[in-house]
Amino acid sequence: MPFSRIGLRLQRLPKSVQGVSVQKQLDRLLLAFVALLLCAAALAWANIDGQRHNERIQAQVKDTLDGLSAIESTQNSLLLLRRELVMAAAEQLAPDFSSAVEVAAARDLPPLLAASQRLAAHDPRYADAVRRAADALLERATYAGNLAGQGRPVPSAVLFKQLLEASAPTEQSLREYFDDLQRSLNESTRLAAVAEVRQQWVSWSGISVLMLFAIAGMVFMLRGVYHPLRTLNQAMQRVGEGRPLAVPPLEGENEFARLGLALFDYSRHVDHLSQLAFFDRITGLPNRTRLIDDLGTTLDKNGQFALVLADIDYFRLLNEGYGYGFGDRVIEALAHRLQKLLNDEVRLYRYSGDAFALFMPLEGEHARDDAHQQCERLRRAASEMLVIDGHRLALTMSFGIGLYPHSGGSVETLLSAADSAVHAAKALGRNSVRFARGDQVLKARQRLELADELRIALTEGQMQPHFQPIIDVVAGEVKCAEALARWQHPVKGFIPPDLFIGVAEESGQIDALTRVLLKMACEAATGWPAHGHHPPTRLAFNLSARQVRPGVVEMVRGVLAETGLPASRLEIEITESAIIERPEIAERLLRELRELGISVVLDDFGTGYSSLTYLMRFPIDKIKVDRSFVTQLEGQRQAAKIVAATITLASSLEMTLVAEGVERVSQMVTLVELGCRQQQGWLFSKALPSEEFVRWVATAPLRIDAVLRAQADAADGAGSR
Ligand code: C2E
Ligand code: CA
Ligand code: CA
Repeated sequence: MPFSRIGLRLQRLPKSVQGVSVQKQLDRLLLAFVALLLCAAALAWANIDGQRHNERIQAQVKDTLDGLSAIESTQNSLLLLRRELVMAAAEQLAPDFSSAVEVAAARDLPPLLAASQRLAAHDPRYADAVRRAADALLERATYAGNLAGQGRPVPSAVLFKQLLEASAPTEQSLREYFDDLQRSLNESTRLAAVAEVRQQWVSWSGISVLMLFAIAGMVFMLRGVYHPLRTLNQAMQRVGEGRPLAVPPLEGENEFARLGLALFDYSRHVDHLSQLAFFDRITGLPNRTRLIDDLGTTLDKNGQFALVLADIDYFRLLNEGYGYGFGDRVIEALAHRLQKLLNDEVRLYRYSGDAFALFMPLEGEHARDDAHQQCERLRRAASEMLVIDGHRLALTMSFGIGLYPHSGGSVETLLSAADSAVHAAKALGRNSVRFARGDQVLKARQRLELADELRIALTEGQMQPHFQPIIDVVAGEVKCAEALARWQHPVKGFIPPDLFIGVAEESGQIDALTRVLLKMACEAATGWPAHGHHPPTRLAFNLSARQVRPGVVEMVRGVLAETGLPASRLEIEITESAIIERPEIAERLLRELRELGISVVLDDFGTGYSSLTYLMRFPIDKIKVDRSFVTQLEGQRQAAKIVAATITLASSLEMTLVAEGVERVSQMVTLVELGCRQQQGWLFSKALPSEEFVRWVATAPLRIDAVLRAQADAADGAGSR
């Protein structure tokens, strides 16, 4: 994921409460909590107080109601008594007026006294007044009764009036008292209602404060603590996964924001370190260390993929010709060009100075073709014109493909498979795509083993030079014999030079190997006989590309001195690519060899990109046309043209031309027709041990007509048999 997208995602994360210190916020929360506690205590107290107040009012109401009922029954009893007495008074003429009064007193007085007794509980004064009023009523009625008994009855109207007057003040004060109590009852009821409302208010405000506090606490927890912590956690996880932060995870200045800033600094630091350790400074691509890391983790999962090494052809020339800064810009431009062609799944790495690596996930049966197509696309793109600092460059790249799991099951074997494939691509003329071949895919452990065995082989004489004749088919002369290394392993049998020359180079044994072989070859050649007036056969010897460096001439001179082979009988074969990769050193080396009297042969000609003018710089005596051209001679007209042009070129430069890999008579004839007389190949002989070679020279048909006749005889023999 690109950094900018990570940044965007982080910016969308919730922000903490900006600026305010979390500590301060927690302090405030604590204060609010204390306030809440005080508040709750006050409310609880208010609640208890209110309840007591309520109870008091209720008691008061009850008391007042009781008073009212006492007054009512007192009033009723008093009224009843008075009415009885008035009724009796109305009949006072009757003889039993006194007894009627007595009956009334006996019947109505006790309830009145009981009622007044109840009233006394509320106000004793009224009880006394009632008593007095009752006494006055009875006294007046009794007196009137006595008078009536004496025959002097009081007129009824007067008696009524007297009776009324006796109780009226008390009745009046009772009424007033009733009104008073009624009023106080109203007041109490009102107070009770107010107290009820107050009680409810206290309860509601308590609940509200609690809820407010809970909401405020929750908001603070969410905004001030939960979200920042979550954001920090996410950021930490991202950093833990090795993905850098583009912005600090939190804004503001509080503790969380400061932690976020520290995390951001850490992430940048880690990112910087990983950039240094895992990324290439020039291209910004992940480097070889990263590739090995990534491959290690990918190997654990199932699935196929291709590991491709893509090497820029002749990059050394660019660096040496235009300077390293220029070389860097070329690398950068190529990286950019390749990157643009890749889909998201393919990863590009800078593998080494002039090589990129590609990781390509593959699927299905056509995995191999897919990998090839993708590499071909990249190869074509790489070979398009590149303009750097005003220079138009026609670069090419060689691609080597290692397939997992086919070419190797470990990082090392895959890398060495891809590496050998890229070398094969280079050897076959560069600007091409090659798969790792089974026999090139020596596992790292096998290579180490082979290196050890090679060391033993060199001391125990398992290594021998064999000699393959090079013939002038027109003159019928063996001109030369090329020494080819042969390793007969006691257990593994014949090991081809294509395998062990590379191992010898890798393990630093190539010089020892060359020395041993050259010495044996020279010793053998000194024993070869002369043929009539012709000098003895010359010896051609291969130097590997790694040996193009100062010091090798000394070694050759030493061996010649030791064995006594004249320098004029020795030819050194060097490949075109070895010369082109290190032109300065190669030029000096070839010149020094020439000065010793040794001839120089340009091997595998046509597989590289050397131009005519370029070759003129070097002291070369012979050109050896690569076997691939000879093979294609019959099928492809292009190959014949190239051979013809090479022959013209060689003769104009006064160089001898040799064709190698001649296997068929038709090839031999075509080559002669084109003007190439010196030929080497299985048509004549494979490489032979020295004594056999000498015997072969003495008996073999060497002239073209003799070869043709021998072929015809062989065919006849086969037909008649
Ligand atoms: P080269 O220098 O191009 O050698 C020629 C190769 O072509 C030899 O393979 C030879 O056996 C083979 N060859 C010759 N005629 C024919 C033919 O008609 N048909 C076919 N198919 N092949 C033919 P060889 O011996 O396997 O050597 C392979 C390469 O190993 C050589 O290629 C050379 O580069 C290297 N090599 C061999 N011996 C030495 C050595 O002593 N020192 C060094 N540095 N390299 C060596
Ligand atoms: Ca050779
Ligand atoms: Ca060759």
